[in-house]
Amino acid sequence: MTALYVLGSGSRGNCFAVEHDGAAILIDAGFTPREIARRAETAGLALGRVGAIVLTHEHGDHARGAGRLARRLGVPVLTAPGTWTRLAARMRHTEHRPLGLCQRVGIGPFAVTACPTSHDAAEPLALAVETADGLRVGVAYDLGRATAAVRYLLRNLTAIVLEANHDDVLLRTSGYPPVLQRRIAGSGGHLSNRAAAELLTEVHHPGLGVVVLAHLSRQCNTTEDARATVAPALRRAGFAGTLHVADQDEPLGPIPVVAQASAQLRLAL
Ligand SMILES: [Zn+2]
Ligand SMILES: [Zn+2]
Repeated sequence: MTALYVLGSGSRGNCFAVEHDGAAILIDAGFTPREIARRAETAGLALGRVGAIVLTHEHGDHARGAGRLARRLGVPVLTAPGTWTRLAARMRHTEHRPLGLCQRVGIGPFAVTACPTSHDAAEPLALAVETADGLRVGVAYDLGRATAAVRYLLRNLTAIVLEANHDDVLLRTSGYPPVLQRRIAGSGGHLSNRAAAELLTEVHHPGLGVVVLAHLSRQCNTTEDARATVAPALRRAGFAGTLHVADQDEPLGPIPVVAQASAQLRLAL
């Protein structure tokens, strides 16, 4: 049994977990360790089962609690060398496992692969976590734009966590200064609902079972807007799985990660 937990997502903190047969891996730790523990308990995730923390990049909303939590749990942190260098002062006495590009890093029943993203951080990554039984969970957010590498990584996933940061119209009417609007919508910023819908249409395949929209902006997006933009596009692509929208404050999970029946049938034949 494989499950995905959304402990929270947004500009004030991001944290996800993948659990497989009693082992778990955390993806980002953008809250304090105490807050992550509180959210894990609410969602029914036993933090004692976490064998590693994987970080996408060094921004506080992704890495805030990583060092302290890794030391508390006695687990390594997997991240790109550039990210590790930026975080070095907060990572003393923490084991680092470098995440290289185009290489699989095994940790318990999981194998992690990564690719670079277009974002204003040292060495930001999108991630795919594969379980021992071949299910693949991808996490891609803080994407200025979806590069060819990200599109490649997101193919053939069983579950995908994808940024749907802002609605184009709500961003334009947000009252944010034009320079900030350009930064949010620019190639070092964040993916819009429309861009997320287009990317999901492109990477959809019959085995895709779970989609989680993540990192929604409080000022420039709503759960309803994100869903209203993405759901019809997924339907048109033939998506028959479950669509979730991650919340900043309310943990979600466990979400079962299962490939769609049609794909399972095809594999069995
Ligand atoms: Zn960031
Ligand atoms: Zn972020």
